[in-house]
Amino acid sequence: MGYAVTVSDVAAVEVVGGAPFPVRRIYCVGRNYAAHAREMGHDPDREPPFFFMKPADAVVPSGTTIPYPSKTEEYHHEIELVVALKSGGKNIPVEKALDCVFGYAVGLDMTRRDMQSVAKKMGRPWDLSKGFDQSAPIAAIVPAEKSGHFEKGAIWLKVNGDVRQKGDLSDLIWNIAETISFLSEYVELAAGDLIMTGTPDGVGPVGRGEEMVGHVDGLPELRIHVQ
Ligand code: MN
Repeated sequence: MGYAVTVSDVAAVEVVGGAPFPVRRIYCVGRNYAAHAREMGHDPDREPPFFFMKPADAVVPSGTTIPYPSKTEEYHHEIELVVALKSGGKNIPVEKALDCVFGYAVGLDMTRRDMQSVAKKMGRPWDLSKGFDQSAPIAAIVPAEKSGHFEKGAIWLKVNGDVRQKGDLSDLIWNIAETISFLSEYVELAAGDLIMTGTPDGVGPVGRGEEMVGHVDGLPELRIHVQ
């Protein structure tokens, strides 16, 4: 059976040594590093994680030149470890959560910070401050069978060669397994889901003509140019 209109192909992320990973949904964790929670004016004392989403077709590969988005003067970078799921379910116990992981990648949760600040003050949704076009640059995914799972390791972001964000995955307030387990209490997770696991401190603006390089130890780098 055909459809009433034609839409673009399924969004996908490159996989090192394999077929592309089709994206079903993108979930993001807010404030999952204590120092970042503090810089945003919150108490990081293991308050339960909260989540928001980006549309699947917000993904863009490493090497892309992104146009500076409309409706913001404060386009912010948030470097994050991304988890790609090969299976899912509801109410996944922490000890089973890593069985759902297909692999890992370096990603950016790009944010219209000025719009988000207004949304927070006015009690409005974050959708268009977080889930806009090309707001989810993600480098190639490494299958977990090659990379292993991530409990520690450096995560950093450079803008034009200067380190702007620097942290360690061991500083995650909620680790990967706990995050998957929490999220599965709210939604049924499934193969094709991506989870952006939160950003360390040092978030800040990126401007036209600048280049971001994102890194997590053991994963391919993410390189994005802003036009
Ligand atoms: Mn984020």
